[in-house]
Amino acid sequence: MHELGLVNYAVKEVSKIAEEHNVTKIKSVTLEFGEVSGIVTSYLYDYWKWYSKKFPMFEDSTLYCEEIPAVTWCDNCKIQYSTVAYGKTCPHCGSGRTWLLRGNEMRIKSIEVYDPVEADAESDGDLDAPGEYKPQ
Ligand SMILES: [Zn+2]
Repeated sequence: MHELGLVNYAVKEVSKIAEEHNVTKIKSVTLEFGEVSGIVTSYLYDYWKWYSKKFPMFEDSTLYCEEIPAVTWCDNCKIQYSTVAYGKTCPHCGSGRTWLLRGNEMRIKSIEVYDPVEADAESDGDLDAPGEYKPQ
């Protein structure tokens, strides 16, 4: 049910931003999430379809998903490496004193709307960008 919560969050946040911009119709939403977040995109698309039928604002809107590569930090060598390739053990020094820098998060990257007002959550800067999604 991880995916349902995520879509629910995205729909709520996008609605809020849309209202602030007097937007009544969403064209598309792009979600960005980490490589190791465990999110199954096919569920996201399914839930999105369901929501788009339920809320007129999202009718015929498209959901896009983009992946953020997972990166782990090694505290010993002070470097970053690919989490998916090497896991929790640093490939340079073999240390286990490592932690995930990114790759477990999810955020709304951009929102495309129909006229009259063109709003883009990202290009407007941080002002309108919602916070990160925190799974329960
Ligand atoms: Zn290391």
